[in-house]
Amino acid sequence: MYNNYETLVCEQKKMKIYNNVLDMIGNTPMVHLRTGIPDNGLTACVKLEYYNPTGSLKDRMSYHIIKTAMAEGKLKKGDTVIDNSSGNTGSAMALVALQMGLKAVVTTPIKTSKEKIDLMKSYGAEVIVTPEVDVHDDPKGFFAVARRLAKEKGYFDLDQYDSQLNVEAHYNTTGPEIWRDTEGKITHFVAGIGTGGTFSGVARYLKEMNPKIKTIAVDPEGSVFTDYILEGKDVPGHSYKIEGIGSDVITKAMHKDMVDEVITVSDKDAFLRAREITINEGLSIGGSSGAVAVAMEKASAYLNEGHVMVGIFGDAGIRYLSKYFNDDWMYKQGFLE
Ligand code: PMP
Repeated sequence: MYNNYETLVCEQKKMKIYNNVLDMIGNTPMVHLRTGIPDNGLTACVKLEYYNPTGSLKDRMSYHIIKTAMAEGKLKKGDTVIDNSSGNTGSAMALVALQMGLKAVVTTPIKTSKEKIDLMKSYGAEVIVTPEVDVHDDPKGFFAVARRLAKEKGYFDLDQYDSQLNVEAHYNTTGPEIWRDTEGKITHFVAGIGTGGTFSGVARYLKEMNPKIKTIAVDPEGSVFTDYILEGKDVPGHSYKIEGIGSDVITKAMHKDMVDEVITVSDKDAFLRAREITINEGLSIGGSSGAVAVAMEKASAYLNEGHVMVGIFGDAGIRYLSKYFNDDWMYKQGFLE
């Protein structure tokens, strides 16, 4: 049925016993994507980052930042790391910190779902819930509280939004894995931008390997990144429901010179696509992955045989069962009729 099915050779994973959970970070699988993709010889596939130990792409940068800081003597056993997070970074940071003999503190806004707060706690994080604020750096908000505690208590600030180690984690691992697994045949790379770390690191690696590779950044409607990338302007955004991608501030992990195209996706389109892919293809994915899939469909309008497009699916649908996998929630938001 699918003429692109055999294009890439799938090497069976060899049996292997890992030394510990940290060794299991990365080397996530890729699978062909079909929903919304024309059957015209184009190869479209997605890298399933929910196969990382805590279930998201954030394991990679948490491990790289903490490991580097320990090697450089900036962190030692018994110290505490902190960052603000709406879930994925909090769990990833706590897993890595505890396995490396550290403690983890996460600040999170009150809107974060109970499941996600409990998940962060289950990995051993101390979670501080902060009030919802309108302005990003409001001293009561989750961003400012993390920075203040880092200063006052001498905690190590993971600083995922501005850290170049966040970008480097993906330059060192995610990018080379995509290059290896497509046997250097990738022509188009598609990823959501939250801090920008994944996109910037992978895009830089791939463009160094082949400058002709085109990169497509995926941003939710309401995020500040699209105006910044297209016009260099920092225009205030508005709120949106997709979690994990988009931002209300420009981050230093977002390297806009790495972007060839930006595709903006609505909450509704992203959520409906996430549900569709879960049913059609058995890939249970989060809303940011739904947005990436919508962008891959849009980009595929000008792609065909000979093109190999790779997207990043950042996390899994299990984190959002009470949101867009819940029909009542979808009706209330006006996303289902
Ligand atoms: N998808 C999900 C589910 C995420 O949690 C994140 C991280 N915020 C992203 C995509 C985007 O990754 P990055 O922060 O590296 O841009």
